[in-house]
Amino acid sequence: MQCPVGSLGYTIRMDKQTRLRQLPKTDEVLARPEIAELVAANPRAIVLDAVRDATDAVRTRILGSDDSVYDTDTFLADVRTRVTVASKRSLHGVINATGIIVHTNLGRSLLSERAVAAVAEVAGGYSTLEYDVVSGERGSRHVHCEEMLCRLTGAEAAIAVNNNASAVMMAISALSRGKEAIVSRGQLVEIGGSFRVPDIMAESGATMVEVGTTNKTHLCDYENAITERTGLLLKVHSSNFRVIGFTQEIGVAELVELGDRTGVPIYEDQGSGVLVDLRRWGLPYEPTVGESIAAGAHLVSCSGDKLLGGPQAGLLLGRKDIIDRLKKHPLARVLRLDKMTLAALEVTLRTYLDEDRALAEIPTLRMLSTPVAQIRARAEAMADRLRGACGDVADIGVADDVGRAGGGALPMADIPSAVVSVSPRCISEFEFEKRLRLGEPTIVARIKEGRLLFDLRTLQSAEENAVIDRIAAILGGGA
Ligand SMILES: *Cc1c(COP(=O)(O)O)cnc(C)c1O
Repeated sequence: MQCPVGSLGYTIRMDKQTRLRQLPKTDEVLARPEIAELVAANPRAIVLDAVRDATDAVRTRILGSDDSVYDTDTFLADVRTRVTVASKRSLHGVINATGIIVHTNLGRSLLSERAVAAVAEVAGGYSTLEYDVVSGERGSRHVHCEEMLCRLTGAEAAIAVNNNASAVMMAISALSRGKEAIVSRGQLVEIGGSFRVPDIMAESGATMVEVGTTNKTHLCDYENAITERTGLLLKVHSSNFRVIGFTQEIGVAELVELGDRTGVPIYEDQGSGVLVDLRRWGLPYEPTVGESIAAGAHLVSCSGDKLLGGPQAGLLLGRKDIIDRLKKHPLARVLRLDKMTLAALEVTLRTYLDEDRALAEIPTLRMLSTPVAQIRARAEAMADRLRGACGDVADIGVADDVGRAGGGALPMADIPSAVVSVSPRCISEFEFEKRLRLGEPTIVARIKEGRLLFDLRTLQSAEENAVIDRIAAILGGGA
């Protein structure tokens, strides 16, 4: 910024001390009506911090340059921006237009409306969390989901904990601490960064015994590794990767036969928590939890918020004597679920009693199973409305694309989908993507070859208007 130009035509430069003295004192700033307005609408501490930080910023600028001066309007605008940024919740909703259904970074599964209502009810009021209404005495929080888990999978008993990683840790600790746990080399996977089978083994206090090779493991590899020190035989779903070609994995039924013969429990970490046969809706085959139980697995674990479509949780299902040991383990208390998660999980599981209802109501299943023709029709309609709202400031089209189940579930499945593609004429696709992400509401979309793609498989119908309004506002169009 330039200082006033003197009558002789040259710039009068104030020295730094003079310019610093023009900075208002914090008390003077707080007394201004503009700031009083901010204090009325926001926590005082946040406004105070914003005023101090804005003042520091001006001071730093003056010290660092020869012509920077204090300007009230610029200063107040800066304070307002800082208050807005600091007042925005860190954890808030976003619109997922990526086409990745179980998106780990965006909160995995959405809860059904009835699950959300149950969460709100127990969150805002007292509940039967550990109260048995029949006897009027103390109850157990484990009962709320156990019966439903057993009914849906055929397991004898079940327990739900914080997430599947903790379920695996608790299971190995309880069954194999100080003993050996056998696992195939082809299943020593890393899932989502920090979940690595060898590390979980080490933390659980079990000695890992690797058998077979990366691509092939035979039943005799397992059999030869069993000794009196063996506590457990673990089978891990490889989730986010596949070994293809010359491969062999031993199925649960064969392992169970070996386990029963040698007295070693067979535990399968099944991962995605599929409760219904997805082939019914044209999706690739994924073994269900019930199939593992039916094959005789003594213990099975899975996530609550992948393909099951519920809240974050780890489910352990299997033989009653094993689940009883888990319930008594100290980690059961450490990893126990809170009432809100239990409420959401119970409702989600109950919805599965009617498979068609589960498909209609559980968002993850609904998004997975919607026919692509229906998604394409929505995309066409949305593209038309966007053309109306944006005029000629962007090229708007509809294209076929592929979505993903995501979240280490159905790892190799391309799920056909349809996208609205928007190629802005006035700004770059990178700037466009950034403004969508930083605006209100936050919209996360995918860049591809100069365009932004909005995948209608994960973009909810109720969100379409907000997305159209935001795009129109950013691109500044108008028919
Ligand atoms: C996803 C996954 C886990 C980790 O589950 P979280 O619910 O994310 O803790 C563990 N094992 C397998 C096989 C998985 O797919």
